[in-house]
Amino acid sequence: MQMLTDRIAVVTGASRGIGLAIARRLARSGATVYGLSRSTSHLQEAQDSLAREGVTLHACECDVSDFDAVQATLQSITKDHGRIDILVNNAGITRDTLLLRMGEDDWDQVMNVNLKGAFNGIKAVARTMMKNRYGRIINISSVVGLTGNPGQVNYAASKAGLLGLTKSVAKELASRNVTVNCIAPGYIETEMTGQLSDEVKEKLIAQIPLGRIGSGEDVAHLVHFLASEEASYITGQTIAVDGGMTMM
Ligand code: NDP
Repeated sequence: MQMLTDRIAVVTGASRGIGLAIARRLARSGATVYGLSRSTSHLQEAQDSLAREGVTLHACECDVSDFDAVQATLQSITKDHGRIDILVNNAGITRDTLLLRMGEDDWDQVMNVNLKGAFNGIKAVARTMMKNRYGRIINISSVVGLTGNPGQVNYAASKAGLLGLTKSVAKELASRNVTVNCIAPGYIETEMTGQLSDEVKEKLIAQIPLGRIGSGEDVAHLVHFLASEEASYITGQTIAVDGGMTMM
């Protein structure tokens, strides 16, 4: 396993699900990991569960949709360590309903967390990464950003927006040795997908060539690789972790 010793990493939405798996994986690889979420109690639970495994998570309560709060939180980490090397924009929400029923607020909330949240994080780290001639930015999109999905107009648009954000920032920062990539998970077992009925789950699994639901760890392995030295020639890419569901 490629070690990330001495690397400073920030993972948004690290209190559970995919973000927690990513934080665990990066910390186990030797990185100093800061996890962001809106809730101190959720973060405390995450910290405690990782501590039981001998892994340290530094917790910061921060709403990624709040531009000023993200700048202040990430500036304080940068001040303490002189830099942030790895930023994983993972925090995300859904407000699913059909277009005709979707309210303005459903649209705004999802765009503000999923897409603007990533912009807010990137704005906070880009200057220092460019100055240091080193950085790894990894945005967690979704296969529905590639394919679209009924009932998820807001969510799919926010996740497709991340693809354009990723490619544009990748082009702007490449000359400073900062890579920017996107991961598009398929169906991953977390609280976000936990509400689905067994019947819906069966139907979803039938569409997955590898025949199983993914885990947070399946995504975390790829984040770890993209964050490592070994991925230094990969930028502006979107890689699906979906058991073969999309095969674009
Ligand atoms: P969960 O709902 O399990 O976890 C979401 C995380 O984001 C929590 O830690 C939550 O913490 C945090 N969060 C939510 N809103 C904010 C906010 N405004 N500011 C800071 N943190 C926030 O989701 P998953 O782990 O399933 O998903 C993680 C990412 O992966 C999301 O971007 C999702 O869209 C994407 N994804 C997930 C798939 C899946 O099948 N699960 C498939 C494809 C993509 P708190 O509530 O404490 O704020």
